[in-house]
Amino acid sequence: MLSVIIPAYNEEKMIAKAAAEVGRVLAGADIAYELVFVNDGSKDGTWEEIEKAAAKDAHVTALCFSRNFGKEAAMLAGLASASGGCCAVMDCDLQHPPATLVEMYRLWEQGYEVIEGVKRSRGRESVLHRASAGLFYRIISKAAKIDMSRASDFKLLDRRAVDALLAMPERNTFFRALSSWIGFRTTSVEFDVQERTEGESKWTTWSLTKYAIKNIVSFSTVPMQFVTVAGFFVLLLAVVLGIQSLVKYFSGHAVEGFTTVILLLLIIGSFIMISLGIIGYYIAKIYEEVKGRPRYLISKRIDNGRECNDGKCNSEECNRDH
Ligand code: UDP
Ligand code: MG
Repeated sequence: MLSVIIPAYNEEKMIAKAAAEVGRVLAGADIAYELVFVNDGSKDGTWEEIEKAAAKDAHVTALCFSRNFGKEAAMLAGLASASGGCCAVMDCDLQHPPATLVEMYRLWEQGYEVIEGVKRSRGRESVLHRASAGLFYRIISKAAKIDMSRASDFKLLDRRAVDALLAMPERNTFFRALSSWIGFRTTSVEFDVQERTEGESKWTTWSLTKYAIKNIVSFSTVPMQFVTVAGFFVLLLAVVLGIQSLVKYFSGHAVEGFTTVILLLLIIGSFIMISLGIIGYYIAKIYEEVKGRPRYLISKRIDNGRECNDGKCNSEECNRDH
């Protein structure tokens, strides 16, 4: 069975459409499937729409987060509760074409364990967005040592790959890169990013910037090495200026140089502060990991058409272990 994980955050207009469209395509291709919707703490009627979809269609199961934990957490939660022999992750806004799922599934049947969806085209984006995405992917590709310039979250994973991903203890995950990092027999399928038909993108420039920094840090320690490089650079400067000052001192012209002192103070001061900031950021991330808080909290779920409150469910009909 194929489990399709669909994270949804404020997507009330898309739920019914996504469920119907994905269901139609998979049923048409004769693939057994379940749809795992993960409501990531939406503030609109997304959960009600999911309830409606689940009442109408027995293929639909769902999780509801207690608040917004972000797409990474939503994808992992969906993978953890999926029961299929292979799992696919796709966006709720149908920007990932459901027809590609069938293509991915056929490759899985041929024995591939990780099938990556790669973007043939990136859809409509502003120039600035495209440029910063380009920079981010160059850095992260170097860090992860995998070409990620066209990577997306649209993937199909075999059960073994899913279990490997879920076994990772880290809190700060970057699904797009981790799914390549785990290895396994991998192939890719190209797809064209579709236009979003309803609602709007959840990403602002600021949230994307934060996301980029977080993921670079979670995959690479190169920014910390920047501190070392800056240190060597300043040392070089110190040697040159030191020799110059000594020469001036011994030749009796040592009073001038106030500007140099101010400039050096400012430059070195900013290097030190930036360096501390970088190290501080890593320490903050270590702190977050060490706290070991759960990646997400589930408040409700729908399974086999029945809704229950996680953890508090005493219903005899409920067949989940709480
Ligand atoms: N999403 C989510 N949690 C969030 C933000 C987004 O689950 O905090 C989901 C969203 O509902 C959608 C997918 O992630 O299914 C991609 O989001 P979006 O379309 O806003 O991103 P874009 O396509 O613009 O990269
Ligand atoms: Mg989208």
